[in-house]
Amino acid sequence: MKFGPWDVQIISGGTFRLDGGAMFGTVPKVVWNKIYPADEDNMILMATNCLLIRGEVDGVKHVILVDNGNGDKETDDFMARFKYEGRGILDRDLAKHGVSPEDITLQILTHLHFDHAGGSTRFNEAGGIVPSFPNARYIVQKKDLEDARHPHLRVKASYLAKNWEPLEAEGLLDTVEGDVEILPGISVRVVPGHIEGLQAVIIEGSGRKLIYLADLIPTARHIQPAWVMGYDLDVVTSVNVRQQLLSEVTNTDTVLVFEHDPDIPSGSVTQDAKGRYVVTPVAV
Ligand SMILES: [Zn+2]
Repeated sequence: MKFGPWDVQIISGGTFRLDGGAMFGTVPKVVWNKIYPADEDNMILMATNCLLIRGEVDGVKHVILVDNGNGDKETDDFMARFKYEGRGILDRDLAKHGVSPEDITLQILTHLHFDHAGGSTRFNEAGGIVPSFPNARYIVQKKDLEDARHPHLRVKASYLAKNWEPLEAEGLLDTVEGDVEILPGISVRVVPGHIEGLQAVIIEGSGRKLIYLADLIPTARHIQPAWVMGYDLDVVTSVNVRQQLLSEVTNTDTVLVFEHDPDIPSGSVTQDAKGRYVVTPVAV
């Protein structure tokens, strides 16, 4: 889909599974399981839908990636725990669009949890961990980098230093604070709740708008504002931020991208007669 100078595609960083109960917080299983069936281990399938954004501004070409999935550095044991599938898929998906890792000029990270930033670094032939995109600047919220360095016990397992320390070592990691326009028509917006430093990515152009929601609304099945994840650190803030965002986008043609939804990666939102939110799939 085109947004002004920007050509946007959804690409895959692979799939994994998480406990369905943890993903739906206080929503009873008899309710969520009807719309999101769990497997024999009570786990649900999760995508890692990333964005590839390409365009030229003032004669400069930009190849931008938003998030990069779980990456390929984890052991088979770790990945088996999350039923990860798709080693190497991000590179293969980029190649389908004629893009190599060296072509990426900017990597926007919504936050540093491993299922979003795990692909930021990779093993080199000597077994060292190096940036996956050696010619890219990487961007993350300053607050999230601080939290990643000094994580609260409750989210500690999601922050793995090998996903950002090699970026810092190479001087490739930049931080931003608050809502910032990164390039004309591409901005980030802080959407706290899941964690304090979570940022959504907004692309505007050609009279259209796309919002990449990251873990604010991880799947289309989480569209009801109170259906927040058990993983969210501050559920009240999460609900408030979702309500604010939904009030802005409902009954508009804004395209929402759901990073973790394997079936409905993107869609627009309306409300039914009872006030429930409804997602209609829209292909990006
Ligand atoms: Zn996530």
